[in-house]
Amino acid sequence: MTILVDMDDTIEQLLEAWVKRANEKFDRNVTLDEITGWNVAAPYTGLTRKQIYDVIYEKGFWKTVKPMPGAAEALEYFMKKGHEVFIVTATEPEHVEEKMNGLLFRYFPFLTWNQVIITGRKQMIRGDVLIDDGIHNLEGGQYRKILFTAPHNRFYDAEANGMTRVRTWEEVVAIIDGMEVPD
Ligand SMILES: [Mg+2]
Repeated sequence: MTILVDMDDTIEQLLEAWVKRANEKFDRNVTLDEITGWNVAAPYTGLTRKQIYDVIYEKGFWKTVKPMPGAAEALEYFMKKGHEVFIVTATEPEHVEEKMNGLLFRYFPFLTWNQVIITGRKQMIRGDVLIDDGIHNLEGGQYRKILFTAPHNRFYDAEANGMTRVRTWEEVVAIIDGMEVPD
């Protein structure tokens, strides 16, 4: 199978690092539970959206982002089983160097640049399944849809929209193992 995998908040914990750094920088104590939508700046009352979004452009920021527990083990397992794995990410040009070398290839050293697809139009990509925390990336795609749970999507009814919500990489592995055609 061809397995498509999002990066931010699917195989790594962007939001956690982002909120941690913003709290340090602006002396706040916002928690992940306070993030209920795509606008990470919303709980930071009195600060501008730009002030909060500038945090992820700080030099060295991406090196503070940690991998999602179980993600590396799962992706390596899929590849060993003979599946093709592609990272499909809407990474911005400014972040490519630090995010790929400081984060992706550091924690997922079995992946190569040939397995990275950078696009904001994931529905254009062909694959058997996409694992993503972004509802907008799953909607309308011609792949099986696995929604990785995240603070910003927790009130979304995944099942009613043809998606399967997962909370851990162990759940992803169980679903993908179950998709295999017996020979
Ligand atoms: Mg994401």
